[in-house]
Amino acid sequence: MTDFEAIVVGGGVAGLSSAIKLAQAGKRVVVLERGQPTGSKNLSGGVLWGNDLAEIVPEWQEEAPIERFVINKKVGFLSENDATVIDLHFDEWYKPPYNGSIILRARFDEWLGKKATENGVTVLDGISVDDLLVEGERITGVISQGEEMRAPLTLIMDGANSRLTLRAGLRKEKKMSDVKSNYMLGLKDVLALDRDVLENRFALKDRQGIAGEFVLGNIPSTVKAGGFFYTNYDTISLGVVVHLDSLQPEDRTYKVLEKFKAHPYIKRLIADGDSIAELKEYGAKLIPEAGIRMMPRLYGNGFMVGGDAAGFVFSNGLVIQGMNYAIKSGILAAETAIEAIDQNNFTEKMLAGYKKRLENSYVLKDLKKFKNVTRMTKNKNLFKIYPDAINSGFKTALTETGKPKEKLYKTILRSFKEKGAGPFTLLKDAIRGGTNL
Ligand SMILES: Cc1cc2nc3c(=O)[nH]c(=O)nc-3n(C[C@H](O)[C@H](O)[C@H](O)COP(=O)(O)OP(=O)(O)OC[C@H]3O[C@@H](n4cnc5c(N)ncnc54)[C@H](O)[C@@H]3O)c2cc1C
Repeated sequence: MTDFEAIVVGGGVAGLSSAIKLAQAGKRVVVLERGQPTGSKNLSGGVLWGNDLAEIVPEWQEEAPIERFVINKKVGFLSENDATVIDLHFDEWYKPPYNGSIILRARFDEWLGKKATENGVTVLDGISVDDLLVEGERITGVISQGEEMRAPLTLIMDGANSRLTLRAGLRKEKKMSDVKSNYMLGLKDVLALDRDVLENRFALKDRQGIAGEFVLGNIPSTVKAGGFFYTNYDTISLGVVVHLDSLQPEDRTYKVLEKFKAHPYIKRLIADGDSIAELKEYGAKLIPEAGIRMMPRLYGNGFMVGGDAAGFVFSNGLVIQGMNYAIKSGILAAETAIEAIDQNNFTEKMLAGYKKRLENSYVLKDLKKFKNVTRMTKNKNLFKIYPDAINSGFKTALTETGKPKEKLYKTILRSFKEKGAGPFTLLKDAIRGGTNL
């Protein structure tokens, strides 16, 4: 028996945000985190978009170990050797509160863990929860290495591919094909680059940073993948996200990352002299991408589920967001928990307030609105036709050959047709893209 009012499983951004909010309301809460120290197991691209954390740590953008703030975003299409890249610059992004904060999770989560402790949360790292404790119709705590820990409320925030929701039958993924269509695999390298070289190369100063995201049209076979880079203080985070259901048995995901790094446009950005910058860290992790379609039961007697464990991730090929939804859902679960503790009522009916809060927030509004986004992000034309067609169309139009020029739209349309997308395909995909973006 313990005297905690809530147990939070998982010291990622969802779990820690939830625990901080609870502790700030004077509630007794413990976070059980398998990594030691907190953050050591965690991986993200990663840009923390938005300012949800300000609700519980108002000065977080000044206090947290943030690498750089995003002032510029590049979105591009890579074909075998060419790139068409849109450069996005918005004046407000230069000013606080910054819209995008580039972070390295090991450092950031360790800081957030310390913040939680300062707020009165008991953070126990190095504890892996094996199962939920179920008594009758209620979840009454957790089990770790045969030992039971009880509390009236358990907040399940154990990240993507949540073992606990699966064990408790709260989500339905049964077959490998479900897992493959619900998840992407993210692979990431952190490459060392001298700060002056990095700032000169990207025209940055102070804490300014750049986020780049790309559709990869240079990947062989049937593989569908996107690539990203984010400038840290004196390193670059660079990686790929691969749709698992597009992989053939002979495909190797590390080769997708190698191909991305070897692309002439990317290679120049990560060069250190004649070679690629030194590898400092690497990692891989699943990303839930099916959003609302893979959502488990979010609440029930004695429990709530948030963050990646609930499938709260949005990705449309131009941006990947999960940390903001994790923080927001963590805070909303805590608000519901505070009410439940105050009323000493931990029933499913009471905790239904969590779903209502999610529905009234951008979390479920976004996930509902974009529930079919994978129809677009998994469209094979996006990878196999468009990057090549866009690059070859612009190259033909912009390369001076001494021959008479044709109108730009004609060149581009011809290029699409040559690569396999005629007017009907374009129209169909435009509708699909337009309605799901
Ligand atoms: C390569 C990659 C790039 C990404 N890029 C971005 C990005 O740029 N922006 C963005 O917003 N999102 C990005 N995401 C998604 C983002 O990382 C997640 O949405 C976010 O981390 C979810 O937070 P969470 O707290 O729910 O889960 P997590 O951060 O995964 O935290 C879960 C925690 O639970 C712990 N845990 C798990 N099981 C147990 C257990 N049984 N017992 C105890 N502890 C346990 C883990 O150790 C971990 O600390 C990216 C993800 C990947 C993989």
